[in-house]
Amino acid sequence: MTETTTVIIGAGQAGLAMSYCLSERGIEHVVLERGQVAERWRTQSWDSLTLLTPNWMTRLPGFQYDGGEPDGFMPVAALIALLERYARRSQAPVRTGTTVLRVERWCGRFRVFTNRGVWSADSVVVATGYCDLPAVPAASRTIAPSIMQSVPAHYQRPEQLPDGGVLVVGASSTGVQIADEIQRSGRPVTLAVGRHTRLPRRYRGHDILWWLDRLGVLNQSADTVHSIEASRRQPSLQLVGRPDHSTLDLATLREGGVRLVGRVSDADRFRVRLNDDLIATTAAADVKLAEIRMRIDQLIVQCGLPAPPPDPFRPTWPLALESPDGIDLQAERIKTVIWATGYRRSYPWLHVPGILDRHGEIRHQGGTTPVGGLYVLGINFQRRRNSSFIDGVGGDAEEIADQIARSRSGLRVA
Ligand SMILES: Cc1cc2nc3c(=O)[nH]c(=O)nc-3n(C[C@H](O)[C@H](O)[C@H](O)COP(=O)(O)OP(=O)(O)OC[C@H]3O[C@@H](n4cnc5c(N)ncnc54)[C@H](O)[C@@H]3O)c2cc1C
Repeated sequence: MTETTTVIIGAGQAGLAMSYCLSERGIEHVVLERGQVAERWRTQSWDSLTLLTPNWMTRLPGFQYDGGEPDGFMPVAALIALLERYARRSQAPVRTGTTVLRVERWCGRFRVFTNRGVWSADSVVVATGYCDLPAVPAASRTIAPSIMQSVPAHYQRPEQLPDGGVLVVGASSTGVQIADEIQRSGRPVTLAVGRHTRLPRRYRGHDILWWLDRLGVLNQSADTVHSIEASRRQPSLQLVGRPDHSTLDLATLREGGVRLVGRVSDADRFRVRLNDDLIATTAAADVKLAEIRMRIDQLIVQCGLPAPPPDPFRPTWPLALESPDGIDLQAERIKTVIWATGYRRSYPWLHVPGILDRHGEIRHQGGTTPVGGLYVLGINFQRRRNSSFIDGVGGDAEEIADQIARSRSGLRVA
């Protein structure tokens, strides 16, 4: 058994940021990674994926993007290279190919069992990713087996799909990007739209994330929201990072020929039933967007910022007026269903009593769990709205590193 102070599980951006912060404080640790550094980006992203956050938002502890294109969007290959460089420069003690199989309490410490030996540690940081496993609705189980079903983590490019129509379920950032790409490949796409957060790529002369940063929306603290559970359930931003900075939303998809329908409720072989909610979900997204535009307009006036006039506001709810109540996959020659319906987490290796809630999520407040010495990092809205973003995970890692340092120096942990 190898002794250390802290075991970090996972070498994505969260685990690497955590490692940097512990090294800064002189705390001995190891990063256990089942694959390679940035494994998730290597194995679970599609070929054309670029970050939807502009390069200037690629910030980690001790690292700030300093390339020549701060407003550009990084392809996944460049991000993998960047995370590898970050790990090398900070001399992160990463053990690749090391899968954590069991974590348990042991004599006031933790024992971490892996396929490559056992570690004993005072503290453990779980950084295994918020987007861990696909969350696929039960309707997928009752669709006829002749229909190919997939999820974004397994999707790579349109050519891997059978000829014929495609039903993409989910209209957040992943769903709209995949729907657009497949439609452009010549396969007719139907997009089942649930709750979504509509945003233009640019507004009044700047990237929308620049404005949200200025408004303090991205950095908003979990303490200041009405309901943290509701905030954590908010759909991801309907954005895409393209060289031309164009907007991808329901209106542009519709113009490109994508058919928009309501949320999938259930399925019976080839018959997919839809909720009569497309007007409601699109109208809700329109209202939210109108509110964000208003906040930006007010900021421009208050701060006297130079900005061109706003583009005319075009609601998307009128696109929803002729939404069907169901789809016959066979009659409409739809051969594939892609469930872009979000993610869930699973911790079957975490054998620590009381750590998981009834939904199987780690109980925590700002990443600190009720079990002394056990932390989680990279969770959606962990301490701030951007906690699961590359740009936000660093602040949370600093906090946890401070707590680990305080507990080592015998001070009371807040
Ligand atoms: C499609 C997509 C696009 C995104 N685009 C952006 C974007 O543009 N900008 C942005 O800021 N954020 C984006 N995100 C959000 C976020 O940046 C990513 O989800 C990112 O991967 C999170 O990093 P992480 O380190 O928390 O987790 P992950 O990258 O998931 O890393 C977790 C690591 O833990 C390892 N692991 C898991 N289980 C074990 C185990 N039992 N033992 C050992 N190792 C284990 C995994 O192999 C993995 O390497 C995107 C997310 C997705 C899904």
